[in-house]
Amino acid sequence: MELLHQAIRERGTIIGDSIVKVDSFLNHEMDTALLYEIGKVFYQKFQHQPVSKIVTIEAGGIAPALMAGLAFGVPVVYAKKQKSLTMKGDVYCESVFSFTKQVYSDVTISKDRLSPDDHVLIVDDFLANGEAAAGLINIIKQADASVAGIGIVIEKSFQKGRARLEELGIEVESLARIARIGDGKIEFLQS
Ligand code: 5GP
Repeated sequence: MELLHQAIRERGTIIGDSIVKVDSFLNHEMDTALLYEIGKVFYQKFQHQPVSKIVTIEAGGIAPALMAGLAFGVPVVYAKKQKSLTMKGDVYCESVFSFTKQVYSDVTISKDRLSPDDHVLIVDDFLANGEAAAGLINIIKQADASVAGIGIVIEKSFQKGRARLEELGIEVESLARIARIGDGKIEFLQS
């Protein structure tokens, strides 16, 4: 998605050798026009599927998921991150390792937010090692719902997330795929 490549190139910054900071248009300030286009492209990529719900994880996934939900005309559910849970009875829960924070947190969705009839499109802001997406897939499985696919805004293709998700037989569509980061430059794969 050329508009997104341009935003990453011109408004993104690189931290260390593997983190991309996009606080100027996605993760802190949100560029509503760009996000609206992102939602429409997710719709184009997954319109062949009878998507009934979008699921994401707080906080970075919420904005693109909301726009995808708007394009599909379906509700959006975001999984909540909590340090640890004492009462797990009324929620589906998975432990997920955060790539950026390097800690585990419990990720939960209330049982009444998903049903076996749901065909769920997972949307997230970044794909690194696939931990967040794998946790959401497990939650959707716990609800006996099905996964339509995974829509990612920015995939770091030099990390193992895509391979891990494709091994599960799930369609992954990323709007920007970063091949490598080096010397302060970002190189894209054609997506
Ligand atoms: P994964 O679970 O695939 O290892 O990492 C994806 C999650 O970690 C996303 O939900 C995102 O919040 C965060 N993340 C991973 N890499 C980056 C990055 O380079 N920049 C930002 N801003 N978030 C990232």
